[in-house]
Amino acid sequence: MDQKTGGDGKRDPEPLEPATVLVTAGRDPFAQHGFVNTPIYRGSTVLYRNTQDFLKRAARYTYGTKGTPTTESLEIAWTELTGAAGTVLVPSGLAAISIALMSCLRAGDHLLVPDSVYRPTRNFCESILKRFGVETTYYDPLLGADIARLFKPNTRAVFTEAPGSLTFEMQDIPAIAAAAHARDAIVLMDNTWATPLFFSAHAHGVDLAIDAGTKYLSGSSDLLLGLVSANERCWRELRATFDATAFCAGPEDVFLALRGLRSMRVRLLHQQESGLAVARWLAERPEVARVLHPALESDPGHAIWKRDFTGASSLFSVMLKPMPDAAAHAFINTLTLFGIGASWGGFESLAIPFDCAPFRTATAWKPSGPTIRFHIGLEDVGDLIADLERGFAVMATATAR
Ligand SMILES: *Cc1c(COP(=O)(O)O)cnc(C)c1O
Repeated sequence: MDQKTGGDGKRDPEPLEPATVLVTAGRDPFAQHGFVNTPIYRGSTVLYRNTQDFLKRAARYTYGTKGTPTTESLEIAWTELTGAAGTVLVPSGLAAISIALMSCLRAGDHLLVPDSVYRPTRNFCESILKRFGVETTYYDPLLGADIARLFKPNTRAVFTEAPGSLTFEMQDIPAIAAAAHARDAIVLMDNTWATPLFFSAHAHGVDLAIDAGTKYLSGSSDLLLGLVSANERCWRELRATFDATAFCAGPEDVFLALRGLRSMRVRLLHQQESGLAVARWLAERPEVARVLHPALESDPGHAIWKRDFTGASSLFSVMLKPMPDAAAHAFINTLTLFGIGASWGGFESLAIPFDCAPFRTATAWKPSGPTIRFHIGLEDVGDLIADLERGFAVMATATAR
């Protein structure tokens, strides 16, 4: 089916604004007896009317792994939202990263990956891709157009992630894409932080855009999903890789993601404001050396963020002044409104300690003191700040000890 038209060939003559796309895209109520949301279709076997139809697979849906009305609803909506040629849905964000890489790499290829990349991406490159004969070079995420000097004759793809989800280093995606395309390489991007609402990856030169739907698309920390959207150049290979692997997402997770989709923009706009309010408050604290948040004017990545992005999500980090790790841990352990856990994008706030130094290989990560990543949820900002204030009071006694 043509993912751009939703199959019925109807298409609005005017391009719709993202807020409207989020509400309308991928819904066909009268194909569902008038019900507003596409229900959960569960199924492996699809029945055909006769042997001729079966042998030709002459049916709208052919088998559970290939797609159902539920999965198609989200594929169509995401394709429209991202301006892609097509989208595949897979069981997790990491599966989206792996299937995107598998769709464009073969034995003997060379891959460029930013040193700030989501750590499980690095693990996939070092384990599976290495075993399948693909060599990875990690690069300084801030290289921009200078990435050109790292290209080898067999460099087939450049992976990007902006900003990195621990250190928030901002990449110059258009410059990297121009350098890659000049050498006919494919550009991939993990766009989970901004989502398509705050960064139009394909419009900025990305061929394969990845989103961990587990995060802001879910908005509720209760599902796992990955989405890969591809432009015309990469769509056929992506879909063929999906068909060959059948890494298909579960119908209930897709259904929940569709619910998340309709309210994603409202949540993100709210979380952007709350995140910035907390980040600005933290930046004024005497215990804080630096806030790593590209939407803050003081951030080294701010100019690129302002040029290319239309918003910021609510995930950022702080670098504390030199102090014992135990003081930072006491701070986090005191917080009552911030959960301690991986992942993010839900309605609830989170705070975790992290240290990238042990696994960076292209560049050194040398923070001034302990580092903490925050995710700001939908709670009241005043309540969150009061909680952080209590944490800092405990940090002071732990530092003095
Ligand atoms: C969480 C995350 C992923 C992976 O998503 P999962 O669904 O947890 O596998 C990928 N990239 C980034 C930047 C993430 O934060």
